[in-house]
Amino acid sequence: MKSAVELTRELIRFETINPPGNEAPCARFLGKMLEDAGFKVALHTMGENRDNLVATIGRPGSGEPLCFTGHTDVVPLGVAPWTVDPFAADIADGKIYGRGSTDMKGGVAAFVCAAIAFASKVEETSGLVLVITAGEERGCEGANFLAAQGLLPKAGAIVVAEPSSNRVLAGHKGVLWLEGKATGVTAHGSMPHQGVNAVYKAARAALALEAFDFSPDEHPVLGRPTVNVGWLRGGINVNSVPDEARLGIDLRLVPGVDRERLLRRLSDAVKGDVDIEVKSTADPVWTEPSDEWVQKVIGIAKSVTAEDSPIGGATYFTDAAALKPSMGNPPTIILGPGEPELAHQTDEYCYVSRIEEAQDIYTRLIEQWRLR
Ligand SMILES: [Zn+2]
Repeated sequence: MKSAVELTRELIRFETINPPGNEAPCARFLGKMLEDAGFKVALHTMGENRDNLVATIGRPGSGEPLCFTGHTDVVPLGVAPWTVDPFAADIADGKIYGRGSTDMKGGVAAFVCAAIAFASKVEETSGLVLVITAGEERGCEGANFLAAQGLLPKAGAIVVAEPSSNRVLAGHKGVLWLEGKATGVTAHGSMPHQGVNAVYKAARAALALEAFDFSPDEHPVLGRPTVNVGWLRGGINVNSVPDEARLGIDLRLVPGVDRERLLRRLSDAVKGDVDIEVKSTADPVWTEPSDEWVQKVIGIAKSVTAEDSPIGGATYFTDAAALKPSMGNPPTIILGPGEPELAHQTDEYCYVSRIEEAQDIYTRLIEQWRLR
């Protein structure tokens, strides 16, 4: 049986930059390992060379399994040059370097190794389900695909192995992507008074969004919703009054926010300047830290890491937004060996010690689930 550190290095060597992803060889490699260990493995193809993997073990009818989840795709290398080979997975000073080491092949390797080591002991219990997705980095494509096709079993609890320095995070914000459209009247650039400038309208809307007050919607751990105008485009040529302009709006929502009410308030804030259309949305993920299983996870993580950090939320978004509702809405936490601030960075690395710690935590979680 290879170590989680060795498996992390093998996974980094699969080049799975998304786009285009090409996750299939990596998913099949993991599928073979899990099948050899006694798991029932299903590969779900969502595009050319793009496989999601669902592996299960356990006795049907004996309760809901514990779910571990992670993704195999990684983000592009960026424009800044790397000082290390991003796909060699070299180890130096206790760190494994490479694209995806932190986000999140270290996490996937840690739970796959923990699950394989326990395979024979969980066969006759409610067991485990491992959901290893493709296409996470471009909007949870794989998780959404599995959810939409009804390919996910119910789970009793979900561990998302995204980077958290092995801290327990109880959820994250949701996303609401909007597009605003301003309409004007075109005219010659020398006679602007004869037109209505759509760029001015879009700019006014952007400033109104910058000043938008979210204060009634504050969450005790995740804080306030945020808004960011990610792009603004309008006009065709310098000597015309532009009659159309558009802006892309990224809202991050916290649990408990009434989305329809918030949309109405936002529309009111930009009324007369732009019309707003919803482009994409995903709910926030949150499990109350007082949940019995979450409390057990906190205890186990503390006993392994000897660190006692307060419960937090992830700053980023995860596949749990799609998986949690379609797996029966079980308690869900984010806990993984990567360092959140190294995700998507040049010279990304993951501490070897964190991967070993994560495997230890996952092993104890599986044991606790088995003996429940
Ligand atoms: Zn990730």
